[in-house]
Amino acid sequence: TEEFLKSENLTEGYKEELRRFVDTFSFLEFSRIGNLIVDLIGKVVELTRMLKEQAIVDALTGLYNRNYLEQFVDKIVGLTQRGKLPLAVAMIDIDDFKQINDTYGHKKGDEVLRTLGKIVKSSVRKSDIAIRYGGEEILIVFPNTKKEYAKYVVGRIKDTLKTTDFGIDRSVTFSAGIAGYPEDVKDLTSLDSIIEVADEKLYLAKKNGKDRIEL
Ligand code: GH3
Ligand code: MG
Ligand code: MG
Repeated sequence: TEEFLKSENLTEGYKEELRRFVDTFSFLEFSRIGNLIVDLIGKVVELTRMLKEQAIVDALTGLYNRNYLEQFVDKIVGLTQRGKLPLAVAMIDIDDFKQINDTYGHKKGDEVLRTLGKIVKSSVRKSDIAIRYGGEEILIVFPNTKKEYAKYVVGRIKDTLKTTDFGIDRSVTFSAGIAGYPEDVKDLTSLDSIIEVADEKLYLAKKNGKDRIEL
């Protein structure tokens, strides 16, 4: 304490007050308080990290949520237009998911979603953005990518899901619609229009019998 008081530019009255305050604690109590503060700071840092992650990551699938995409929309659109780069967007929707829930239970449905999230994450590149867009809908944004390549990636995801054994007497499939810039949308002021086209193609994939990708 005296070392500290010497080094600090404090008034005598304040120093006296500090001495009296310090004398009421034993050394042991001080070290306990010190440890407590270190623990608390550690917890605050960890909580902050968790909150930041929860704000952008979907807990079930581990994929990003819509909030995350919103942060990048302007950047993606800007880069695509300025660099005259292609852009592809895929909308994925699990087939007959309501039936899977109804037949095998909601827990099995959750397991399917969790697994699909893992497959998607390990199949896309770091620069691609995979989002849980709706309950059982996944949106993947592929910057600087032609839609043919996006189809190849989504096809691989589809094959992996279809051959995954969920311990039920059927395979799980999805349908997908893929849209590309500049082929499918004239101007790219936001991602809304390209997502809309991907959605229309998804609808077509469902109409044409499901378990398929429409380009
Ligand atoms: P389609 O082949 O036309 O896509 O039919 P579908 O049954 O997949 O489509 P529908 O939109 O009728 O059903 C989607 C279902 O997804 C209904 C909803 O209960 C379920 N679902 C949404 N989110 C979750 C979730 O987090 N967990 C589980 N287990 N089910 C979910
Ligand atoms: Mg759906
Ligand atoms: Mg569905």
